[in-house]
Order: sequence, then C-alpha cells, then structure tokens
Amino acid sequence: MTYPCILIVDDDPALLQALPEAIQLRMGECRVDTSDSAPAALGRIGVTDYDAIVSDIKMPGMDGLALLDHIHALRPDTPTLLITGHSEHDLAVQALRGGAYDLIQKPIDRDYFAASLARAIQVRALKRQVEQQQQAIERHAVELEQIVEQRTQELQLQATELGAIIEAMAESVRVCDATAYIVRVNQRAGTLLGITRDDLPLSIEQSMQWQKVYYPDGVPIPYKDLPLLRALRGETATDYHMLLRQSDRPEIHLRCSYAPIRDACGVITGGVAIDHDLTELIHLERHKDEFLSIASHELKTPLTSIKGLAQIVQRRLERAGSPEAAHLVKMGRAIGRMEMLVNDLLDISRIESGRLALRTEHADLVALCHQVADEQRAATGRRISVEIPQAPVTLEMDVDRISQVLANLLSNALKYSPADRPVVLSARTTDSEATLRVVDQGPGIPADELPHVFERFYRVPGITIQTGSGVGMGLGLYICHEIVERHGGRIWAESAPGKGSIFNVVLPVTPARKRADHTLVNNENAVRSHATRRTTP
Ligand code: ADP
Repeated sequence: MTYPCILIVDDDPALLQALPEAIQLRMGECRVDTSDSAPAALGRIGVTDYDAIVSDIKMPGMDGLALLDHIHALRPDTPTLLITGHSEHDLAVQALRGGAYDLIQKPIDRDYFAASLARAIQVRALKRQVEQQQQAIERHAVELEQIVEQRTQELQLQATELGAIIEAMAESVRVCDATAYIVRVNQRAGTLLGITRDDLPLSIEQSMQWQKVYYPDGVPIPYKDLPLLRALRGETATDYHMLLRQSDRPEIHLRCSYAPIRDACGVITGGVAIDHDLTELIHLERHKDEFLSIASHELKTPLTSIKGLAQIVQRRLERAGSPEAAHLVKMGRAIGRMEMLVNDLLDISRIESGRLALRTEHADLVALCHQVADEQRAATGRRISVEIPQAPVTLEMDVDRISQVLANLLSNALKYSPADRPVVLSARTTDSEATLRVVDQGPGIPADELPHVFERFYRVPGITIQTGSGVGMGLGLYICHEIVERHGGRIWAESAPGKGSIFNVVLPVTPARKRADHTLVNNENAVRSHATRRTTP
C-alpha cells in the first residue's frame, strides 16, 4: 500500500509545522514534506512526483504564483492548492487563472483545507489510473499491430505456398462459389478440361456446353449430379468416375474427388473438385487384359497336349517297369501347377470380360465336400476333418465352379499352415442357405489385410507357403469371390495373427431343398470330376 505524498511550501515556520499535523490528524496515513521557499520546493518536486502541493502565495523571492508556473511546467498533472490572505482578490483571480486547483483562505479552516486536499489527491489518483490504462491500451495496440502484421505475413506465405501447390498438381483443380460459378482453376484444368483463368467466372451450366460428361457406362450425368453441384449440396467423394467428351478431343476417363467448402459457422460457401486423368491407366489395363486373355489361351492348348503326352509316356514306362517313370510323376505335378496358373489367368480374363458363364444344375453339396476333401487328402497326404450333415443338401450350382472354390480354400488352408496341423471343412444349413467353413491353424491374417485378400493379384506380405510346393499369384480368392457372388452367395474371411483363419462361404439353398425332395438328384452322378481342380501338389 502506498500513502499519498504531499508537499507544503510556506515561509511561515508556524504554519509549516501546524499544517502537516492537521493533515495527519484528518487524513490518516500520508507523507508530508515541507519547504520554506519556492526554490527549495522546486528541488523536491524535481525528485518526487507529489500527489498534491500546497503553497502560500506570498513568499519572499519567488512567490506562490511563480512557483505554480514552474510546477505546471515540471509536473502538469499535480494539483496545487494556493493559500491566500483575506481579501486578496486580485491574487486569488490570478491563482485560479494560473491553474491552481483550489484557494485556501487565511485564517485556514482546517476541515475545509483537509477536504479540498483529499479531493485533489483523489483527482490525481484518478488521473494516474487513467494514464496507466491509456499506457496499457497503447501497449496492447502496438502488440496487436505486431501480431496482425505477423499473421498477415504468415497468411500471405501460406497463400503463396498453397497457390504453388495447386499449380504444381498433376490433377486439375476447380473451385466454385455458392452460386455455382467456377471462380478458380489451376493450369492443369486448362489442359485437361479446357477451362483457363481467362474464362472465369464461368457458370457450371455454361461449362457443360462444350464438355459432355458421362458415367463410365456411357449414360449422361445429369446436371444436378455433377461433382461441384454435389459438393454444393454438402456431399463428399473420392472415387467418382466419369467420361469427358469434348468436341475436338479424344474421350478422357476421370476420377474425381469433390467436397464442399464451409465457412467458420459451417455454412457452405463453395465447392472444390479435383480431377485425375485415368485415360492412360485404363488403356494400359485394357492392353493387360487383352494380353492375359491371349497368353492364357495360347498357353492352354500346348499345355494340354504336353499333359496328355506325359501321361502316355508315364504309363508306358510304368508298364515297362522303368525307374524313369518316377520322373514323369514329378513332371506331371509340375504340369499340374502350370495348368492351375493358366486356368486362373483364363478365369481372370473371363471375369474381366464378363464371360465367366455358370452351368448350374441341382447337385448335392455334401457329396461335393467329401469329394473335394478326398482329392486334397490324396494330393497332399494331409489330415482334413469333414464335419458336415449326413443328409444331402441340394443346391442350384455350377458343380465345377463350387468345387473350384472349395478346392481353393482347402488348398490355401493346407499350404499356409504347418503340415502337422489339421484343417477342418464344416457345413451347416438352414432352410434358406448353406454355410461352408474352412478352418486352419496357420499364421492368420492381420485385420488390415483381410479386406484385400479377395482382390486381384493380392498376396498378404509376410505369409509364406509352409507345406507343399504350391504356387500362387494372388488370384484364387478373387476368382472364388466372383464365383460365389455369381451364385448369389457371400464369401468372407475371419482371422487374427497367430490364431489361424476361417474362410466362410454362404450359398442360397434351392427350393428343391426346401421341399426336402432329396431324390431329385442322383448325388454321385451330379458331381462331375473336374480335371483341373486345384490341389496342392
Ligand atoms: P495365392 O494363389 O497367392 O494363394 P489367393 O488369392 O488364394 O492367392 O490368396 C491370396 C493371399 O491371401 C495369399 O497369397 C495369402 O497371402 C493369403 N491367404 C489366403 N488364404 C490364407 C490362409 N488360409 N491363411 C493365411 N493366409 C492366406
């Protein structure tokens, strides 16, 4: 706590003693300095910023009025009370004109004097407070100015960076405002879509006059479903495919990402669309499919001849009791593996070109399971537990294709698990569907890999073939998925590292099964042998 500081200037020693006593008596704690002359007072004022000064007017040498002038020059905010004699009106007027805070008349009324002094101190304190607040405001203003300047520079830098990034992008960028006008494009938009900055602002509707856009199947995209229009409705996508046809240019395949632009309150103020040119990729994909189709067909014919001839030679050598027959057995296995790969490639090209035809018939799933399990046991010498119903389960299915699915799942379970671990094939049925499960105790598949195992050419990193000399290109499960879906069923995998894998297949049961008319089908005959069924040789 700081106490008020008061200076009393008077050449009368009696008053110089009496006034401080009167002040302390009436105003409590305060510091009172005294000076017996104006020059001495100025010395003190130069050092101390007093809260109030009380001075007699009439003093030898420099009088109170002259002192007042000096105080105003030195400490313009310090209130000064002047003491005047009775009926010295001229002096009083001069004092007030000179800026005195108050006049104290002699003989001094102590209460009036103390009250006036207290007011003067209060005014000075308030002025000081205002001064401090003003200084604080000025400091804040300077700080704010610096922050604004710094942020402006940062924003300018960010805007420049963002502009450079947008311009360097291989994709075209279009930005529209809330009224569906394109207001910003990058350079790539010029080469890809034919929209340059000179065309802006350009209404989306207008841009459609020279650009016709279609879904990949060739159906025109309605205006309301254009990417930027969808973005303006708050929709977001990263995989929107379209064909762009412009009058004088070849067709372009685009993959578009779009999203709304919102202000701080979440209101949509525009939209952004980014177009990636897929034309070259799609042409390459077509070339690859054509190559796969031609290569697999061209390989199939000579391979079938080699397989037939090898079997004839093997039989002849066996009949002649030649030890060379063992080589032919190995050769037969190698040809079998090659045949599996060629068949997978053929299936892929059939799937891609929509030529994977199903030859469906009513057949018994139970008999099929036993048959495929037997084949896999014979080929691998491994243990396969079959836990399926006794009674036949009749399905409308392409027997060869469903046995291909089962053989693929069993062969995977066998080849990716250690030789001493059993594999289980189980089945259960309801009135409407049959569920097949192939369970192994192999390494298991990490959760983030599971969604990919049914993709083309996908092999889970780190999973190696543990038994048999099986081959793999990551095509089997993709083909299984296609076959099962074509039967109106579902296929999925459950697995965790170290816990083995379960592959599930659900197939719809035919009405024949619902009528429990099991005699419809001669189960054994229905199961045709599939010459190229997948085993793990
Ligand atoms: P591949 O011919 O390579 O076996 P698939 O399409 O049949 O091709 O399987 C794709 C990939 O999924 C395999 O390469 C393997 O990494 C993983 N996979 C399939 N079945 C299993 C399984 N039972 N256990 C562990 N990983 C498996």
